[in-house]
Amino acid sequence: MRTIPYGRQDIVDEDVAAVVEVLRSDWLTQGPKIEEFERAVASACGAAQAISVSSGTAALHLACLALDVGPGDLVWTTPNTFVASANCARYCGADVDFVDIDERTYNISAAALRAKLREAAQRGRLPKVVVAVAFSGQPADMAEIAELAGEYGFAVIEDASHALGAEYRGHKVGDGAYADLTVFSFHPVKLVTTAEGGMVVTNRNTLGERLRRLRTHGITRTAADLEASGEGGWYYEQLELGYNYRMTDLQAALGTSQMARLEGFLERRRYLAARYDRLLREFPLITPWQAPERLSAWHLYVVQLDPARTPLTRREVFDAMRARGILVNVHYIPVHLQPYYRRLGFRAGAYPVAEAYYEHALSLPLYFGLTDEDQERVISTLAEVLRLGA
Ligand SMILES: *Cc1c(COP(=O)(O)O)cnc(C)c1O
Repeated sequence: MRTIPYGRQDIVDEDVAAVVEVLRSDWLTQGPKIEEFERAVASACGAAQAISVSSGTAALHLACLALDVGPGDLVWTTPNTFVASANCARYCGADVDFVDIDERTYNISAAALRAKLREAAQRGRLPKVVVAVAFSGQPADMAEIAELAGEYGFAVIEDASHALGAEYRGHKVGDGAYADLTVFSFHPVKLVTTAEGGMVVTNRNTLGERLRRLRTHGITRTAADLEASGEGGWYYEQLELGYNYRMTDLQAALGTSQMARLEGFLERRRYLAARYDRLLREFPLITPWQAPERLSAWHLYVVQLDPARTPLTRREVFDAMRARGILVNVHYIPVHLQPYYRRLGFRAGAYPVAEAYYEHALSLPLYFGLTDEDQERVISTLAEVLRLGA
């Protein structure tokens, strides 16, 4: 029985050729392909600067560092995300707190954020940064979040790991209209892949320069930034503690080749999502609601089992689908329920909307190479598992 994964990359001959060309060239890392890929991503999302790094997680870490997040600071994010959206603050020694999600978009709730900020202001413990995740590819309420950022003086990192090519109120995600820094991931299940890889985009040039320095040990060779002068052509200075978070030219060449197909990737995912919406209409499921003025990149197609219309639990449906070769998944286990975060003091019940959503959520297969026939098999298997038409 052929299995259908929930997501996968799509690699064509042009991608392979692009990588092989780099292997035969002078530069395996930090050569011309890096700049080419950064330009491709910057221009696709309308950002002034794009800084490639070794993963989306590295991008989040450096984004926090560039905003001077450190011990004693507070970073807020959503519990309905991959752990990296919260871990980035912990890498910097900062404390993390969460804001519950909106019950329809599954993104951070702007109303809950507003209420929590009001309370935090009274206690004098406001966040320095809010990491807003565009869950499943649908941007969060970024205009409200940006307005609150102005009011309460925090910076906004948009974790757009799911949302390359998404739009919000006519703005491309990453164009800097609503976030100080936007982060993308190029893990194989994401929209575009470099195997491992990430990118930070920004319109704030000083942050961009800092990010370039931080990804390579905190080292600079730029004459204007050096503390000493006249030392000679070999000379560089380490100005702060940075990392080796560089992307290779092999990865960047793959990324540039993939970026040429971004529009096609998005179009196929949007087609498949609309088809799921239509074909699942009579199922005892809550299909993903799309807020106005947003165009999702459709990284994930998440349904919730509707307990009012089916006696089956998510666990039963998950196991039955997997047993039939449909590799459904669950996004996400609320981050605050992870043992690591529980040990920091977080408890079940703290974010009831995210927890209730998690109980019923199921991600159906969605990727560029999913054929119409594959999708029909997913749907007929789901009908069988849910005992529809029996
Ligand atoms: C994939 C992902 C990341 C991490 O990206 P990596 O490239 O795997 O390090 C961060 N946040 C979210 C929401 C993600 O989906």
